[in-house]
Amino acid sequence: MSAQQATRRLCVLGATGSVGRSTLEVAAAEPERVQVVALAAHRDVEAMVALIAQHRPARVAMADPAAAARLRERVGAGCEVLEGAEGLCTLAADADSDTVMAAIVGAAGLPATLAAAEAGKRVLLATKEALVTAGRLLMQAVADSGAQILPVDSEHNAIFQCLPRGYTCGARPSGVRRLLLTASGGPFRCWSAAQMHEATPAQAVAHPNWDMGAKISVDSASMMNKGLELIEAAYLYAMPESDIDVLVHPQSIIHSAVEFVDGSLLAQMGTADMKIPIAHALLHPQRGCSGAQRLDLLALGRLDFEPPDPERFPALRLAREALRSGGLLPAVLNAANEVAVARFLAGAIGFTAIAALVEAVLEQAAGWAESCDSIAAVLDVDARARALAQGWEAARG
Ligand code: NDP
Repeated sequence: MSAQQATRRLCVLGATGSVGRSTLEVAAAEPERVQVVALAAHRDVEAMVALIAQHRPARVAMADPAAAARLRERVGAGCEVLEGAEGLCTLAADADSDTVMAAIVGAAGLPATLAAAEAGKRVLLATKEALVTAGRLLMQAVADSGAQILPVDSEHNAIFQCLPRGYTCGARPSGVRRLLLTASGGPFRCWSAAQMHEATPAQAVAHPNWDMGAKISVDSASMMNKGLELIEAAYLYAMPESDIDVLVHPQSIIHSAVEFVDGSLLAQMGTADMKIPIAHALLHPQRGCSGAQRLDLLALGRLDFEPPDPERFPALRLAREALRSGGLLPAVLNAANEVAVARFLAGAIGFTAIAALVEAVLEQAAGWAESCDSIAAVLDVDARARALAQGWEAARG
């Protein structure tokens, strides 16, 4: 038996979201091993009040200053409320925590995730957009500070679990030929292009296997999620996109696999419940109870696989192209996609316009000369790509 693990002092960024709440459920089930010391969110004051009452953190932060002011009126002096993007960065770097769950949706999560990495924390990474927009910066910050990244995205966590004990993210794992990212195919896997053209936001967020936030659900429906994950995997495991394959696996039981040079293929399986990768990352290198349902292979009976359809799901190709051309194009892809998804959810554009918009913005950004060597440069590129994406929408009316 290994020695008892020291208590993790946990800060949860994006505490009111789907991953944030699952993280707090896992933490509550392991009170001897995890202590919640800080929480952060955007503007959902009611949810934060309830989480503070349950988890009793010493400090919290709200990105929206008006929400922070309302929260201060609701909580006692025992809980300090920070505000704004700077408040989130302060919280993420605070010496009171040793472990930070990065689960803010979108590029908005980048500054606080980077702050946690620079402060040398154990960073449990759910916010894939942070690696997509600033992969090199983030991995460099991890290397410089001695921080540790533990992937939470189920595919990347699966890959991590298949790699030899002691492997740390940021280096190409030895003996690996390729990574196999599995994809459920989303709610439109069997839909025709014409049906997808008419798809509504309610249909796009109704994922067949996973219960997730709205943005990632739409990304799953367009398969942009797999494109973002491909970029995420390239940075985490230091592998070119040509060594990362995508396989549609509708049951979402195999969460990803690693092929080694000797022909061995190791895969990680489990039910489609984020509490499994969260518990793994939170308690690593030990194991603990996640509270997820156990996998019953006999009840399941079979596992299916098929190639992704590049015609109906162009997002995967766009992500590969952005990654191959390097530098800032992954950040452009991400920003354009965030704008497109928000407009789709608001009913302003159709579902198939998401990929069309992203492609148009990538084409316009192809000549941009900046390199993403600072957070300011990344945020500048992000803002310019968003402006282009808004303009495309306006033109299409
Ligand atoms: P949700 O939409 O459920 O939650 C988003 C969280 O981010 C909320 O806490 C929200 O706060 C906070 N937030 C939003 N905008 C800001 C901002 N500008 N500043 C600070 N906080 C902000 O998202 P998910 O939990 O689904 O996803 C979170 C991340 O994890 C995403 O990057 C996603 O891709 C990734 N992920 C999610 C999985 C899942 O199963 N859900 C699986 C794998 C990865 P508030 O409530 O106050 O608005």
